[in-house]
Amino acid sequence: MSDLLAALDSLRERLDEIPQADERRLQELKTELLGRKAGALTEILKALPGLEPDERKRVGGAANALKRELERAIDAREASLKQSATNLSGVDLTLPGRRQWGGGLHLVTQVVDEICDIFRELGFTRVTGSEAETERYNFYALNFPKDHPALDAQDSFYLGGDVLLRTHTSPVQIHTLETYPPPIRIVVPGRCYRRDPFDASHSPVFEQIEGFAVDDGISFVDFKATLAAWARRFFSPQTKVRFRPSYFPFTEPSAEMDVQCQICAGSGCAACKQTGWMEILGSGMVHPAVLENCKVDSEKYTGFAWGMGPERIAMLRHGIPDIRVFFDSDVRFLEQFIGKEESGVRSQDLESDGPAPESRLLTP
Ligand SMILES: [Zn+2]
Repeated sequence: MSDLLAALDSLRERLDEIPQADERRLQELKTELLGRKAGALTEILKALPGLEPDERKRVGGAANALKRELERAIDAREASLKQSATNLSGVDLTLPGRRQWGGGLHLVTQVVDEICDIFRELGFTRVTGSEAETERYNFYALNFPKDHPALDAQDSFYLGGDVLLRTHTSPVQIHTLETYPPPIRIVVPGRCYRRDPFDASHSPVFEQIEGFAVDDGISFVDFKATLAAWARRFFSPQTKVRFRPSYFPFTEPSAEMDVQCQICAGSGCAACKQTGWMEILGSGMVHPAVLENCKVDSEKYTGFAWGMGPERIAMLRHGIPDIRVFFDSDVRFLEQFIGKEESGVRSQDLESDGPAPESRLLTP
Protein backbone atom coordinates (compact mmCIF):
# COMPACT_ATOMS: atom_id res chain seq x y z
CA MET A 1 0.00 0.00 0.00
CA SER A 2 2.80 2.44 0.90
CA ASP A 3 4.14 1.86 -2.66
CA LEU A 4 0.93 3.22 -4.12
CA LEU A 5 0.94 6.22 -1.76
CA ALA A 6 4.58 6.97 -2.70
CA ALA A 7 3.63 6.73 -6.40
CA LEU A 8 0.83 9.23 -5.77
CA ASP A 9 3.31 11.59 -4.06
CA SER A 10 5.67 11.54 -7.00
CA LEU A 11 2.76 12.12 -9.40
CA ARG A 12 1.76 15.16 -7.35
CA GLU A 13 5.17 16.70 -8.03
CA ARG A 14 4.32 16.75 -11.72
CA LEU A 15 1.58 19.29 -11.06
CA ASP A 16 4.29 21.95 -11.36
CA GLU A 17 4.91 21.07 -15.00
CA ILE A 18 1.39 21.95 -16.08
CA PRO A 19 1.41 25.78 -15.81
CA GLN A 20 4.58 25.95 -17.96
CA ALA A 21 3.41 23.55 -20.67
CA ASP A 22 2.66 24.76 -24.19
CA GLU A 23 -0.31 23.37 -26.06
CA ARG A 24 1.47 20.27 -27.31
CA ARG A 25 3.17 19.45 -24.02
CA LEU A 26 -0.15 19.86 -22.21
CA GLN A 27 -1.75 17.18 -24.35
CA GLU A 28 1.20 14.87 -23.69
CA LEU A 29 0.90 15.42 -19.94
CA LYS A 30 -2.81 14.75 -20.08
CA THR A 31 -2.17 11.38 -21.72
CA GLU A 32 0.78 10.51 -19.49
CA LEU A 33 -1.06 11.22 -16.25
CA LEU A 34 -4.76 10.73 -16.89
CA GLY A 35 -4.83 8.69 -20.10
CA ARG A 36 -7.65 6.13 -20.12
CA LYS A 37 -5.41 3.27 -21.17
CA ALA A 38 -1.99 3.84 -19.63
CA GLY A 39 -2.16 7.07 -17.65
CA ALA A 40 -0.04 6.89 -14.48
CA LEU A 41 -2.97 7.79 -12.25
CA THR A 42 -5.33 5.46 -14.11
CA GLU A 43 -2.94 2.59 -13.36
CA ILE A 44 -3.16 3.33 -9.63
CA LEU A 45 -6.95 3.50 -9.74
CA LYS A 46 -7.02 0.18 -11.60
CA ALA A 47 -5.13 -1.42 -8.71
CA LEU A 48 -7.75 -0.40 -6.13
CA PRO A 49 -10.11 -3.39 -6.40
CA GLY A 50 -7.30 -5.75 -5.30
CA LEU A 51 -6.72 -3.91 -2.04
CA GLU A 52 -8.09 -4.51 1.44
CA PRO A 53 -11.15 -2.28 2.11
CA ASP A 54 -9.26 0.01 4.52
CA GLU A 55 -6.37 0.49 2.14
CA ARG A 56 -8.69 0.90 -0.80
CA LYS A 57 -10.40 3.75 1.03
CA ARG A 58 -7.16 5.61 1.85
CA VAL A 59 -5.44 5.12 -1.50
CA GLY A 60 -8.67 5.69 -3.41
CA GLY A 61 -9.35 8.94 -1.52
CA ALA A 62 -5.84 10.27 -2.17
CA ALA A 63 -5.90 9.20 -5.83
CA ASN A 64 -9.25 10.85 -6.52
CA ALA A 65 -8.13 14.05 -4.80
CA LEU A 66 -5.00 14.15 -6.97
CA LYS A 67 -7.05 13.40 -10.06
CA ARG A 68 -9.24 16.44 -9.37
CA GLU A 69 -6.19 18.64 -8.77
CA LEU A 70 -4.61 17.50 -12.03
CA GLU A 71 -7.80 18.09 -13.97
CA ARG A 72 -8.21 21.56 -12.49
CA ALA A 73 -4.61 22.49 -13.33
CA ILE A 74 -4.95 21.18 -16.87
CA ASP A 75 -8.24 23.03 -17.40
CA ALA A 76 -6.73 26.25 -16.09
CA ARG A 77 -3.71 25.92 -18.38
CA GLU A 78 -5.94 25.18 -21.37
CA ALA A 79 -8.00 28.26 -20.65
CA SER A 80 -4.94 30.50 -20.36
CA LEU A 81 -3.46 29.16 -23.62
CA LYS A 82 -6.75 29.83 -25.35
CA GLN A 83 -6.81 33.34 -23.91
CA SER A 84 -3.35 34.23 -25.32
CA ALA A 85 -4.38 32.89 -28.73
CA THR A 86 -7.41 35.19 -28.63
CA ASN A 87 -5.23 38.19 -27.70
CA LEU A 88 -3.07 37.60 -30.80
CA SER A 89 -6.18 38.01 -32.94
CA GLY A 90 -6.09 41.74 -32.06
CA VAL A 91 -2.73 42.07 -33.87
CA ASP A 92 -2.85 43.29 -37.45
CA LEU A 93 -0.43 40.99 -39.23
CA THR A 94 -0.78 42.93 -42.48
CA LEU A 95 0.94 46.05 -41.05
CA PRO A 96 4.26 46.70 -42.81
CA GLY A 97 7.26 45.60 -40.75
CA ARG A 98 9.87 47.93 -39.34
CA ARG A 99 12.65 48.48 -41.86
CA GLN A 100 15.85 46.76 -40.85
CA TRP A 101 18.76 49.02 -40.00
CA GLY A 102 21.22 49.00 -42.90
CA GLY A 103 24.71 50.16 -42.04
CA GLY A 104 27.16 51.52 -44.56
CA LEU A 105 30.66 52.86 -44.94
CA HIS A 106 31.20 56.49 -43.95
CA LEU A 107 31.33 58.85 -46.94
CA VAL A 108 34.99 59.69 -46.25
CA THR A 109 35.88 55.99 -46.09
CA GLN A 110 34.11 55.48 -49.41
CA VAL A 111 36.07 58.32 -51.00
CA VAL A 112 39.36 56.98 -49.57
CA ASP A 113 38.62 53.52 -50.98
CA GLU A 114 37.63 54.92 -54.35
CA ILE A 115 40.78 57.05 -54.65
CA CYS A 116 43.06 54.20 -53.56
CA ASP A 117 41.36 51.78 -55.97
CA ILE A 118 42.04 54.10 -58.92
CA PHE A 119 45.72 54.40 -57.97
CA ARG A 120 45.86 50.66 -57.48
CA GLU A 121 44.94 50.25 -61.13
CA LEU A 122 47.84 52.59 -61.90
CA GLY A 123 50.22 50.24 -60.08
CA PHE A 124 50.22 51.70 -56.57
CA THR A 125 50.12 49.52 -53.46
CA ARG A 126 47.95 50.59 -50.54
CA VAL A 127 49.88 50.70 -47.27
CA THR A 128 49.33 52.18 -43.84
CA GLY A 129 51.63 53.65 -41.23
CA SER A 130 51.58 54.45 -37.57
CA GLU A 131 49.81 57.54 -36.22
CA ALA A 132 52.54 58.26 -33.66
CA GLU A 133 55.89 59.24 -35.13
CA THR A 134 59.18 60.67 -34.01
CA GLU A 135 60.28 64.12 -35.14
CA ARG A 136 62.82 62.47 -37.41
CA TYR A 137 60.15 60.68 -39.45
CA ASN A 138 57.57 63.45 -39.29
CA PHE A 139 59.96 66.33 -40.05
CA TYR A 140 63.73 66.01 -40.33
CA ALA A 141 64.07 63.05 -42.70
CA LEU A 142 61.50 64.83 -44.87
CA ASN A 143 63.91 67.76 -45.17
CA PHE A 144 62.09 70.14 -42.83
CA PRO A 145 64.65 72.69 -41.63
CA LYS A 146 65.00 72.80 -37.84
CA ASP A 147 63.37 76.24 -37.72
CA HIS A 148 60.43 75.41 -39.99
CA PRO A 149 57.14 76.78 -38.62
CA ALA A 150 55.52 73.31 -38.77
CA LEU A 151 57.90 72.22 -36.03
CA ASP A 152 56.30 74.70 -33.67
CA ALA A 153 54.62 72.85 -30.81
CA GLN A 154 51.54 74.96 -31.54
CA ASP A 155 50.96 72.92 -34.68
CA SER A 156 51.35 69.43 -33.30
CA PHE A 157 50.19 67.14 -30.54
CA TYR A 158 53.26 65.83 -28.73
CA LEU A 159 52.97 62.57 -26.80
CA GLY A 160 56.19 63.12 -24.87
CA GLY A 161 59.81 63.57 -25.84
CA ASP A 162 60.19 63.79 -29.59
CA VAL A 163 57.14 61.57 -30.27
CA LEU A 164 54.09 63.26 -31.76
CA LEU A 165 50.86 62.42 -33.55
CA ARG A 166 51.82 62.66 -37.21
CA THR A 167 50.87 65.91 -38.89
CA HIS A 168 50.75 64.27 -42.33
CA THR A 169 51.06 60.81 -43.89
CA SER A 170 54.47 61.68 -45.37
CA PRO A 171 56.48 59.81 -42.67
CA VAL A 172 55.41 56.63 -44.49
CA GLN A 173 57.63 57.82 -47.39
CA ILE A 174 60.64 57.48 -45.07
CA HIS A 175 59.59 54.13 -43.60
CA THR A 176 59.07 52.77 -47.10
CA LEU A 177 62.40 54.07 -48.43
CA GLU A 178 64.15 52.52 -45.43
CA THR A 179 62.42 49.17 -45.85
CA TYR A 180 62.07 48.55 -49.59
CA PRO A 181 64.41 49.30 -52.48
CA PRO A 182 62.96 51.18 -55.51
CA PRO A 183 60.83 50.82 -57.57
CA ILE A 184 58.28 52.09 -55.05
CA ARG A 185 54.70 53.08 -55.79
CA ILE A 186 52.43 53.45 -52.76
CA VAL A 187 49.24 55.19 -51.67
CA VAL A 188 48.89 55.74 -47.94
CA PRO A 189 45.51 56.65 -46.49
CA GLY A 190 45.47 57.55 -42.81
CA ARG A 191 44.51 59.88 -40.02
CA CYS A 192 46.60 62.95 -39.25
CA TYR A 193 46.57 65.49 -36.42
CA ARG A 194 47.24 69.18 -36.21
CA ARG A 195 46.51 71.76 -33.58
CA ASP A 196 43.93 73.45 -35.81
CA PRO A 197 40.62 74.99 -34.79
CA PHE A 198 37.49 72.84 -35.25
CA ASP A 199 35.54 75.01 -37.69
CA ALA A 200 33.76 74.73 -41.03
CA SER A 201 36.96 74.04 -42.98
CA HIS A 202 39.40 72.74 -40.33
CA SER A 203 39.54 69.77 -38.02
CA PRO A 204 42.36 68.82 -35.63
CA VAL A 205 41.87 65.23 -36.85
CA PHE A 206 41.67 64.67 -40.56
CA GLU A 207 42.22 62.05 -43.21
CA GLN A 208 45.01 62.29 -45.75
CA ILE A 209 46.11 60.17 -48.68
CA GLU A 210 49.79 60.22 -49.43
CA GLY A 211 51.07 59.13 -52.82
CA PHE A 212 54.69 58.28 -53.43
CA ALA A 213 56.60 56.89 -56.41
CA VAL A 214 60.36 56.41 -56.71
CA ASP A 215 62.13 54.71 -59.58
CA ASP A 216 64.97 55.00 -62.05
CA GLY A 217 64.01 57.68 -64.59
CA ILE A 218 60.73 59.07 -63.22
CA SER A 219 60.19 62.52 -64.69
CA PHE A 220 57.87 65.47 -64.22
CA VAL A 221 55.82 64.10 -67.12
CA ASP A 222 55.10 60.86 -65.19
CA PHE A 223 54.10 62.95 -62.20
CA LYS A 224 51.62 65.16 -64.07
CA ALA A 225 50.24 62.34 -66.19
CA THR A 226 49.59 60.08 -63.19
CA LEU A 227 47.69 62.73 -61.23
CA ALA A 228 45.78 63.92 -64.31
CA ALA A 229 44.78 60.31 -65.07
CA TRP A 230 43.49 59.95 -61.53
CA ALA A 231 41.47 63.20 -61.75
CA ARG A 232 39.86 62.12 -65.03
CA ARG A 233 38.86 58.79 -63.48
CA PHE A 234 37.66 60.23 -60.19
CA PHE A 235 35.77 63.28 -61.50
CA SER A 236 34.96 62.94 -65.19
CA PRO A 237 36.83 62.09 -68.42
CA GLN A 238 36.74 65.74 -69.52
CA THR A 239 38.22 67.07 -66.28
CA LYS A 240 41.06 69.54 -66.76
CA VAL A 241 43.82 69.96 -64.22
CA ARG A 242 46.44 72.64 -63.70
CA PHE A 243 49.61 72.81 -61.63
CA ARG A 244 50.68 75.95 -59.78
CA PRO A 245 54.14 76.42 -58.28
CA SER A 246 54.23 75.93 -54.52
CA TYR A 247 56.63 75.06 -51.71
CA PHE A 248 57.00 71.95 -49.56
CA PRO A 249 60.28 71.03 -47.85
CA PHE A 250 60.19 67.45 -49.15
CA THR A 251 59.49 68.17 -52.83
CA GLU A 252 61.41 70.18 -55.42
CA PRO A 253 59.86 71.54 -57.54
CA SER A 254 56.54 71.62 -55.65
CA ALA A 255 53.09 72.21 -57.09
CA GLU A 256 49.50 72.61 -56.04
CA MET A 257 47.15 70.75 -58.32
CA ASP A 258 43.80 72.31 -59.17
CA VAL A 259 40.91 70.53 -60.81
CA GLN A 260 38.43 72.31 -63.02
CA CYS A 261 35.38 73.17 -60.92
CA GLN A 262 32.92 70.29 -61.11
CA ILE A 263 29.93 72.48 -60.44
CA CYS A 264 30.36 75.22 -63.06
CA ALA A 265 32.70 73.32 -65.43
CA GLY A 266 35.20 76.20 -65.22
CA SER A 267 32.95 79.18 -65.87
CA GLY A 268 33.04 80.39 -62.26
CA CYS A 269 30.60 79.94 -59.39
CA ALA A 270 30.32 80.48 -55.64
CA ALA A 271 31.79 77.06 -54.84
CA CYS A 272 35.02 77.85 -56.69
CA LYS A 273 35.00 81.53 -55.68
CA GLN A 274 34.52 82.46 -59.38
CA THR A 275 37.92 81.06 -60.34
CA GLY A 276 36.67 77.98 -62.20
CA TRP A 277 39.23 75.86 -60.34
CA MET A 278 39.28 73.83 -57.14
CA GLU A 279 42.43 73.18 -55.17
CA ILE A 280 42.77 69.44 -54.65
CA LEU A 281 46.26 68.49 -53.52
CA GLY A 282 49.86 69.47 -52.87
CA SER A 283 52.56 67.63 -54.72
CA GLY A 284 55.97 67.71 -56.35
CA MET A 285 59.09 65.82 -57.34
CA VAL A 286 60.72 64.08 -54.37
CA HIS A 287 63.49 66.29 -52.97
CA PRO A 288 66.93 64.65 -53.45
CA ALA A 289 67.66 65.29 -49.75
CA VAL A 290 64.75 62.97 -48.76
CA LEU A 291 66.25 60.16 -50.86
CA GLU A 292 69.74 60.78 -49.47
CA ASN A 293 68.38 60.83 -45.88
CA CYS A 294 67.23 57.26 -46.51
CA LYS A 295 70.49 56.26 -48.24
CA VAL A 296 68.85 56.06 -51.69
CA ASP A 297 71.07 57.29 -54.53
CA SER A 298 69.46 60.55 -55.69
CA GLU A 299 71.65 60.60 -58.81
CA LYS A 300 70.07 57.35 -59.96
CA TYR A 301 66.53 57.58 -58.57
CA THR A 302 63.85 60.24 -58.86
CA GLY A 303 60.22 60.29 -57.84
CA PHE A 304 57.10 62.25 -57.12
CA ALA A 305 54.80 62.58 -54.13
CA TRP A 306 51.48 64.16 -53.25
CA GLY A 307 49.09 64.57 -50.36
CA MET A 308 45.35 64.96 -50.73
CA GLY A 309 42.51 65.46 -48.26
CA PRO A 310 39.63 63.01 -48.77
CA GLU A 311 37.29 65.06 -46.57
CA ARG A 312 37.91 68.13 -48.72
CA ILE A 313 37.45 66.12 -51.90
CA ALA A 314 34.18 64.65 -50.59
CA MET A 315 33.01 68.17 -49.69
CA LEU A 316 33.83 69.48 -53.18
CA ARG A 317 32.13 66.57 -54.88
CA HIS A 318 28.91 66.73 -52.88
CA GLY A 319 28.77 70.44 -52.11
CA ILE A 320 29.10 69.84 -48.36
CA PRO A 321 29.79 73.22 -46.73
CA ASP A 322 31.07 72.15 -43.29
CA ILE A 323 33.72 69.52 -42.48
CA ARG A 324 32.26 69.01 -39.00
CA VAL A 325 29.31 67.01 -40.34
CA PHE A 326 31.75 64.16 -41.00
CA PHE A 327 32.36 63.87 -37.26
CA ASP A 328 28.81 64.43 -35.99
CA SER A 329 27.67 60.82 -36.60
CA ASP A 330 24.25 62.18 -37.57
CA VAL A 331 22.52 59.28 -39.28
CA ARG A 332 20.25 61.63 -41.25
CA PHE A 333 23.35 63.04 -42.95
CA LEU A 334 25.34 59.81 -43.26
CA GLU A 335 22.57 57.59 -44.63
CA GLN A 336 22.28 59.78 -47.73
CA PHE A 337 25.57 58.35 -48.92
CA ILE A 338 25.03 54.66 -48.30
CA GLY A 339 25.81 52.88 -51.52
CA LYS A 340 26.07 56.12 -53.53
CA GLU A 341 29.78 55.87 -54.26
CA GLU A 342 29.92 52.46 -55.87
CA SER A 343 32.05 53.41 -58.82
CA GLY A 344 34.67 50.76 -58.20
CA VAL A 345 35.31 47.46 -56.48
CA ARG A 346 36.02 47.75 -52.77
CA SER A 347 39.66 47.44 -51.85
CA GLN A 348 38.85 44.45 -49.63
CA ASP A 349 37.57 42.58 -52.67
CA LEU A 350 40.62 43.47 -54.69
CA GLU A 351 42.94 42.32 -51.96
CA SER A 352 41.86 38.73 -52.39
CA ASP A 353 43.88 38.38 -55.58
CA GLY A 354 47.65 38.38 -55.27
CA PRO A 355 49.52 39.37 -52.14
CA ALA A 356 47.37 41.52 -49.87
CA PRO A 357 48.70 45.10 -50.05
CA GLU A 358 47.71 45.81 -46.46
CA SER A 359 50.09 43.06 -45.39
CA ARG A 360 52.92 45.46 -46.20
CA LEU A 361 52.18 47.30 -42.99
CA LEU A 362 54.84 49.81 -42.26
CA THR A 363 55.73 50.41 -38.66
CA PRO A 364 58.66 52.39 -37.32
ZN1 LIG B 1 32.73 76.67 -60.00
